[in-house]
Amino acid sequence: MPAADVKSLDRTGLAEALESLGEPGYRTGQLVRWLYGRGATDFEQMTDLPEALRRELAGRFSLSFPALVRRQVSAADGTRKYLWRLGDGATVESVGLPAGSRLTVCLSTQVGCAMGCAFCATGRAGFVRNLLPGEIADQVTAVARDFGTRATNAVAMGQGEPFANYDATLAAFRFLNAKDGAGIGARHLTVSTSGVIPGIRRLASEPEQFTLAVSLHSAVQSTRDSLMPGARRWPLLELREALAAYVETTGRRVTFEYALIDGANDTEAELQALLRFCAGLLCHVNLIPVNAVPGSALARSSKQRVERFRHALQSAGVEASVRVERGADIDAACGQLRQRCEA
Ligand code: SF4
Repeated sequence: MPAADVKSLDRTGLAEALESLGEPGYRTGQLVRWLYGRGATDFEQMTDLPEALRRELAGRFSLSFPALVRRQVSAADGTRKYLWRLGDGATVESVGLPAGSRLTVCLSTQVGCAMGCAFCATGRAGFVRNLLPGEIADQVTAVARDFGTRATNAVAMGQGEPFANYDATLAAFRFLNAKDGAGIGARHLTVSTSGVIPGIRRLASEPEQFTLAVSLHSAVQSTRDSLMPGARRWPLLELREALAAYVETTGRRVTFEYALIDGANDTEAELQALLRFCAGLLCHVNLIPVNAVPGSALARSSKQRVERFRHALQSAGVEASVRVERGADIDAACGQLRQRCEA
């Protein structure tokens, strides 16, 4: 029988495995520190665990760490894009975004994605598999190691729909949040969903103050259906209700991602629908001048349209900002790096 992958276990799973070996409770923290605080690549490195336990763990579990396939560094702003190979040969990408003393890691939660968003290269390639908790958390460790610093923020905004892999994403966030893991504050850990309502409801009931972002991209149902076909199951009306309930329960703000696409979702009617959607909701709108996706007819909105949206939202009392473009001189939209490497 092949050894179980230690990266498939959440914290409780690690604790149970150690308990079954007759180990005291504090060993869990030691193991988490080695796996997610220090990014160990071999049980032999875990020098504060007894030698017999290291041997026992190595016999029961496989231990993999992402292997670098390709790295691109933006000459413009230092953004780094990574393509990693996982234990089974699957590849995923992450992005490291340095800004002053901060390092934000944009991580993937699935290999591929089933949501099929029109503006996304990953969506067009389809779904392959869910990532394990450790495969999600390891991206942060690997990127931070490459920068030679610790990560201060992480966002699940790379490949995949995090709420389609809810348990693994939350388990990874807990490793990233833990003092003996990556030690990143809960509010600095953001999960970005295409609007999966059951996931939003579950997140509202979690004890940690993780941040929620929603890829909205249109507040007009027909436009959203065509841009984000995978999100059709959760209509805007129900999404708005779920978000109001989330804000009510948690007292926390929701961030909307809105990629502005010329002629598709940047019209005056779209703006008015967005204003209605945001009215009375504790939210922040991130306006994103969309990156061109090779082979797609979608083009970015003009500067004037972006500015019109920002101004109208702010005038209506809705917090809004235009996302500064990062890494424009390296591969752009999510999924492009992986596709290029596998082509
Ligand atoms: S934008 Fe995100 S949710 Fe949509 S297809 Fe791409 S990876 Fe999936």
